[in-house]
Amino acid sequence: MAAGDERYELPEELKMASRMVRDYVQKEIIPLEHDLEHDSISIPDTEFNRLAPKAKAMGMWCIGVPQEFDGGGLSIFAQVVIEEEMVQHAAGLYAPVYGTMGTSPPEIIWHGTPYQIETYGLPTVRGARKAWFAITEPTGGSDPARAIQTRAVRDGDDWVINGSKVFISGALWGDWGIVFARTDPETRRGITAFIVENDSPGFSLTPIPVMRAYTPAQLFFDNLRVPDRNVLGEVDKGWDLLANKLLARGRIPYSSANLGVSVIAHRMAVEYSKTRETFGAPLATRQAIQWMLVDSEVEIRTCRWLIWEAAWKYDAGEDFRLEGSIAKLYSAEVLGKVVDRSIQIHGGYGVTHEMPLERWYREARIRRIGEGASEVQRIVIAREILNPAGRPPA
Ligand SMILES: Cc1cc2nc3c(=O)[nH]c(=O)nc-3n(C[C@H](O)[C@H](O)[C@H](O)COP(=O)(O)OP(=O)(O)OC[C@H]3O[C@@H](n4cnc5c(N)ncnc54)[C@H](O)[C@@H]3O)c2cc1C
Repeated sequence: MAAGDERYELPEELKMASRMVRDYVQKEIIPLEHDLEHDSISIPDTEFNRLAPKAKAMGMWCIGVPQEFDGGGLSIFAQVVIEEEMVQHAAGLYAPVYGTMGTSPPEIIWHGTPYQIETYGLPTVRGARKAWFAITEPTGGSDPARAIQTRAVRDGDDWVINGSKVFISGALWGDWGIVFARTDPETRRGITAFIVENDSPGFSLTPIPVMRAYTPAQLFFDNLRVPDRNVLGEVDKGWDLLANKLLARGRIPYSSANLGVSVIAHRMAVEYSKTRETFGAPLATRQAIQWMLVDSEVEIRTCRWLIWEAAWKYDAGEDFRLEGSIAKLYSAEVLGKVVDRSIQIHGGYGVTHEMPLERWYREARIRRIGEGASEVQRIVIAREILNPAGRPPA
């Protein structure tokens, strides 16, 4: 192989798509944020209705949803490259582009029956319904296969569900969601996925205020009846479908959102350090400041490659779970550090509501807990590198 042959560049088409989304965020989304409340997670309907058709026209609607279900059908690699741009605004971490590029339903719905896809999946892609995804219970989220106590018992053509879920994102605004309930109490894995509607008798919920505005909820199921046709996948096999692939897959786009917000927080710090003067010279001339910026730069670049590696492996159909956990662990921790440094460089202004930094600081803290906490990712990584039958260490 000749020198230079190994050079890697993003495909031209992907570079263009990513630039287009960057322009969209800068020209359409950020200007709106000047008039919104500091912690806003939505924009006025008039703006949403103006912008959503624009995003559709750009071919940027629900980019990760397969084309056969009216989505963009992009590879996960293309998604992470685009998502890095999509989240670079104040609400980007939890309300990327305020949903104007579509809000995808939980990936697992595409493993459902034609009825389930037609009734729940497609209307959600079209924006007519909103969904949530409920695994965590008061008994714990790190080891859900053991912690899930919510019970579903067959009764004629229905299932009767009793129990509770905590910290469920999107449920307060949702119409339907997926509930993992125990159907075989004898085994650790005897769990089934059910599609549940918010307006069903026996369903109730209450907000759990947390350090982000996108408030999760506690859900209660009190003799909630679900028809058999709302069983998603096989009875007692819900966990296998979820744990093997989907939970691990979700960590990759989650990581690229961490990356995108790190990028924008870092750029703000670089720019500010060049203009703010103390003791007669710009902050950027001080080594103490330069080293903070350098650490952020190195960590961000590392983060990007780790995410891309996980995405490539996923798209190639290879075992990507180790790489997905590394990306999630590293990106969540980098986000916290980069935002913290950026606040430090901005001094007092860094913690004001004039800037999104303090918002990201609060939200970043959640990223080390949600979607598999840092300790859980370390458990996955350790299991792989220590197990003789697992993946060899680097
Ligand atoms: C804002 C927010 C939104 C969320 N949204 C959703 C949602 O939409 N759907 C959903 O299902 N869940 C959601 N969650 C729940 C989230 O996934 C869980 O909080 C997370 O998995 C951790 O579970 P836990 O809180 O029960 O902590 P626990 O499982 O009780 O763990 C407590 C701490 O101990 C650590 N720990 C656990 N086991 C070990 C070990 N063996 N060794 C060392 N340390 C360990 C954990 O990492 C954690 O730091 C959300 C949580 C938050 C905060």
